[in-house]
Amino acid sequence: MMNLRERWIRRRQQIVVAFIAAGTLVFAGLWAFESNVGIILESDRWAYPIIIAFLSANLLVIAAVPRFQPIAEVLCFLAVAFYLLTQIVYLSFGPPNTSIYTIAVALLWMPVLYVGAFMFFSRSRAMVAVGVTFALSAVALISGTVITASRGEPTLPALMINALVSHFLVLLLLSLVLILRDEFDRIASHARNMEDAANTDTLTGIANRRALEEWMQRRDAGPHDRRVVLMLFDIDHFKSINDRHGHLIGDEVLVSTAQLIRSQMRAHDLVGRWGGEEFLVILDGADADVATRLADRVRQLVTVAAHPVAGSVTLSAGFVVCEPAQSVTTMFRAADAALYAAKSSGRNRVVAG
Ligand code: GH3
Ligand code: MG
Ligand code: MG
Repeated sequence: MMNLRERWIRRRQQIVVAFIAAGTLVFAGLWAFESNVGIILESDRWAYPIIIAFLSANLLVIAAVPRFQPIAEVLCFLAVAFYLLTQIVYLSFGPPNTSIYTIAVALLWMPVLYVGAFMFFSRSRAMVAVGVTFALSAVALISGTVITASRGEPTLPALMINALVSHFLVLLLLSLVLILRDEFDRIASHARNMEDAANTDTLTGIANRRALEEWMQRRDAGPHDRRVVLMLFDIDHFKSINDRHGHLIGDEVLVSTAQLIRSQMRAHDLVGRWGGEEFLVILDGADADVATRLADRVRQLVTVAAHPVAGSVTLSAGFVVCEPAQSVTTMFRAADAALYAAKSSGRNRVVAG
């Protein structure tokens, strides 16, 4: 199964391809529209088909050799940026009285390029691509403003200065979004860590009582169609281990017992420390036979795995099968009673409730 990160990478690649395809269509549309209306620049009669062919070729390369996509993406960005910059330069330095429409179009589309780069390129690549493009466009726009103003044109210089300032603000806002996103990621990961910590038993690293109770409340509150087994393990005469070897050794026995129980369960079974030397396991979809076999295996393994100082301990277990219609909170009492029965009938055994 794909993990979240791989899925996002694939989704990002698809979006960028859609972006390039949309860009190709925009150029095709501009070409058709401007030719029809008769406002197409002489240079664009050549530039439009070239850029459409270039973008299409990159799309084909991506389709044929997906690992070339990162290079193709940057090439497409640079091609469009280069085209827009030449428009600005051409219109500023070229023949006077060129149509204001053409420069306005170039200036309008540049922010789309900036946003696209920030959204889809890696942070450093976006910085370079956008930084270089904006710096060059600033040079072109400032000299364009001076030149067109000196020719006595009132509208073009004003348009260019407006564009320069608005593009700069777009970049400023984009940077702000990135900073906020970083901050959000940091807080989200902090919140995840806090939540993990709140649900984890600090000594053994398995789920704590809070997590187990929350699971039980959720199950009883919501719809569910799976049977579960509630299984309680309790270390026999654990108090005497503390008494004879001290609390630290007692802790070590708790940790190794928790790990052993966890190692025998499937990943989606919940294993937690209910309290002291008592563990609760919630087996998803298991029946009484499976539960008995599992509990007995854990019991035997614990007996075999001796602690270097404390020696081996034994476990008592009690479990109950909880059908979908039954409340786990209520059935937990039956599991507890089964554990009590295992204790009072001699310990080191499994009793079904
Ligand atoms: P039984 O066979 O009836 O279960 O006897 P027991 O001695 O295991 O049970 P009891 O409930 O009398 O004692 C449990 C002991 O577990 C008492 C307590 O000091 C100890 N204990 C509880 N939490 C911890 C812990 O985090 N670390 C250590 N080292 N001991 C703990
Ligand atoms: Mg005990
Ligand atoms: Mg106990």
